[in-house]
Amino acid sequence: MMLTRRTRASRSPVPVKPTAAHLEEQVDPSKSRWRNRVTVRYEQHVDSEGNETKCWEPLRWREQLENIQTMRQAKDAPVDTLGAEKCFDEKAPAQVKRYQVLISLMLSSQTKDEVTAAAMRRLRESCLTVEAILGIDNVTLEKLIYPVGFWRNKARHIKLATAMIQDEYNGDIPDSVEGLIKLPGVGPKMAHLVMKIAWGKVTGIAVDTHVHRICNRLHWLPKESRNPEATRLMLEAWVPRELWCDVNWLLVGFGQQTCLPVAPCCAHCLNQNICPSSSLLCSKSTKRHKK
Ligand code: SF4
Repeated sequence: MMLTRRTRASRSPVPVKPTAAHLEEQVDPSKSRWRNRVTVRYEQHVDSEGNETKCWEPLRWREQLENIQTMRQAKDAPVDTLGAEKCFDEKAPAQVKRYQVLISLMLSSQTKDEVTAAAMRRLRESCLTVEAILGIDNVTLEKLIYPVGFWRNKARHIKLATAMIQDEYNGDIPDSVEGLIKLPGVGPKMAHLVMKIAWGKVTGIAVDTHVHRICNRLHWLPKESRNPEATRLMLEAWVPRELWCDVNWLLVGFGQQTCLPVAPCCAHCLNQNICPSSSLLCSKSTKRHKK
């Protein structure tokens, strides 16, 4: 049975009391005009001991997601044409393709897709395999990947990770999140993306800066999240498993084209009327444009 947390207008004599503090909607009185438009609801479940538990989910998330799917139909964001799924050599052996997926994702953090794609092109021209990377020195590698963000650190991490892949995994990348995050420079977000793209396994929701920002703006989290890893855990608690593989590419492209980090295009967003952040951000961006 689905229970809805009542607003003042619809409050009934049958209140729902979430048992865990983190399930409570945190209403900041100073932001109540827009914050109170968000309705949350709880789904009842029964645990193995027969105790009733409640699972939080945002009320209009399906509508919001469908709108994002509509806005992403053209698949013409940078991530669609230049992302990690497009940067490896299609004709290379499967093991080499997997390695190239890992390297493109290592290059992509804090870097525009266009810059990552150009660095991947240069690397592929120099033969992007485990053996080839181990055969070049750090300075040469730095020159090849420059100007991706943190190019010096990334070159060092790529060399170290490649040596581990050669020594401990017989030249192939690890096939688990646990193995991948042991590689220098590889975090959980990257590991889940590698698992999906390179191994075809959905192991979690990959949360980057776009996913993190948009989930906070849409209030897709039971409380505000300050870092992507916390966002991932909160999302995985309620997003149906069959949607996990779509969240990253949908929201990354949406964040590149519409829900921009600064001055999001709320006026052109199909979620404008059902997004808890649209008014606030629109008025901020309007003020910013007037200056
Ligand atoms: S209305 Fe604005 S803040 Fe909300 S999802 Fe759309 S672009 Fe982002």
